Amino acid sequence: MALHKVGRHPEQSEERRRLSLNPFYGAADPLGSMTLAPPQHRLPEGPMAPAAAYQFVHDELMLDGNSRLNLATFVTTWMEPEAGRLMAECRDKNMIDKDEYPRTAELERRCVSMLADLWHAPDPATTVGCSTTGSSEACMLSGMALKRRWAHRNRDRYPGPGARPNLVMGVNVQVCWDKFCNFWEVEPRLVPMEGDRFHLDPQAAADLCDENTIGVVAILGSTFDGSYEPVQEVCATLDALQERTGLDIPVHVDGASGAMIAPFLDEVLVWDFRLPRVASINTSGHKYGLVYPGVGWALWRSPENLPEELVFRVNYLGGDMPTFALNFSRPGAQVVAQYYTFIRLGRDGYRAVQQTTRDVARSLAEKIDCLGDFHLLTRGDELPVFAVTTNPDVKNYDVFDVSRRLREAGWLVPAYTFPPNREDLSVLRFVCRNGFSADLAELLLEDLKRAMPELRAQSAPQSKDKAAATSFHH
Ligand SMILES: *Cc1c(COP(=O)(O)O)cnc(C)c1O
Repeated sequence: MALHKVGRHPEQSEERRRLSLNPFYGAADPLGSMTLAPPQHRLPEGPMAPAAAYQFVHDELMLDGNSRLNLATFVTTWMEPEAGRLMAECRDKNMIDKDEYPRTAELERRCVSMLADLWHAPDPATTVGCSTTGSSEACMLSGMALKRRWAHRNRDRYPGPGARPNLVMGVNVQVCWDKFCNFWEVEPRLVPMEGDRFHLDPQAAADLCDENTIGVVAILGSTFDGSYEPVQEVCATLDALQERTGLDIPVHVDGASGAMIAPFLDEVLVWDFRLPRVASINTSGHKYGLVYPGVGWALWRSPENLPEELVFRVNYLGGDMPTFALNFSRPGAQVVAQYYTFIRLGRDGYRAVQQTTRDVARSLAEKIDCLGDFHLLTRGDELPVFAVTTNPDVKNYDVFDVSRRLREAGWLVPAYTFPPNREDLSVLRFVCRNGFSADLAELLLEDLKRAMPELRAQSAPQSKDKAAATSFHH
């Protein structure tokens, strides 16, 4: 059974499926005249012509959304044709085959060095790091390193079993950290939201730490509203904790989005390896790293931060290359595309792209503010992402209605409720990305303005999907 629900398909009624075919499909099939559509939930008995198979799949996919109009995702939806060409050239390369594809392996190493330099690692030459399938895998690996280092400390101090490790973070963490804690049996200690604070509070984090805390996660920036968590203050508070109690708690920075924004647009912000307490950092190459889905990065300050026994060496592909990964086989194309984008843009190019995106976000936020019905929780001036809610005097409609109306115009703008202790708050979130131009933002605004009179004329909020949207994590 697939994990997502499938409805009842009319597959058993071959009668209907036969009628849905016309002679063009049959004519395209050199293996015989095709009169039946292929079954959808079991393997067809025999092959069909590539053109026909292509058409079946292609036609069905037309009903997917248009990714460029999707303001729900952080993931890259546009790359240059040259990047696409390189990726096509590399789609047969397996990233794990480092001996077979030494140049791909070398490009991965160079990307790690470039990120180490960008994030101010004390010694980029000895910084360890790897590519992953995305930030989720990078967070699993980083969390595992934190847990193993804690286990070593714990074993030295308190021999014998018993202690349960915990991880301290804001309730606003991305779902990958809930997964990490669940899969690796670590107790999540979550700092709730309070009032107008929608992300981690440094003192509240320090207060949750004890001798079994494997680390504190700080997010740059928060999935829920695009705000940067105060990494420097978190580190300072943990410094004070160490002075008081001797507890030395490492910090992991989840920079899924912000680690590719802040180095270019917020150079004065100190959040990275400049802070000695920051042990590791991850980012999604496929978010503001500007590569199509399928690549993330994890870096550790120094080899001591990544226990040696977690790194595997296999010799059955030839060679003896160390790897730290959950997967074995994985595409090499995204890593090549990351390297392409790094040399194609350079620092100035990245700065220009990210600045344009943030300008679009800020300007759209400003204009939505001017409509009068909305309250902005963030303004798109950290991540190019902002969250808005309706003003208290708006009673006739809610953010779920707005989301639905925008969807009717083709735009995907999710509405969801916040986690504890602000479950009372429902927001719309706009994620602006490269390719969401000022022109497109203007069109979105026009569609929103067009929907306003009808929304205001409603007698009450209409949406029923509020309950279903309460556990939003993306
Ligand atoms: C997107 C995101 C993740 C998960 O990253 P993937 O690359 O989608 O696996 C983790 N943390 C934060 C803060 C994110 O925004």
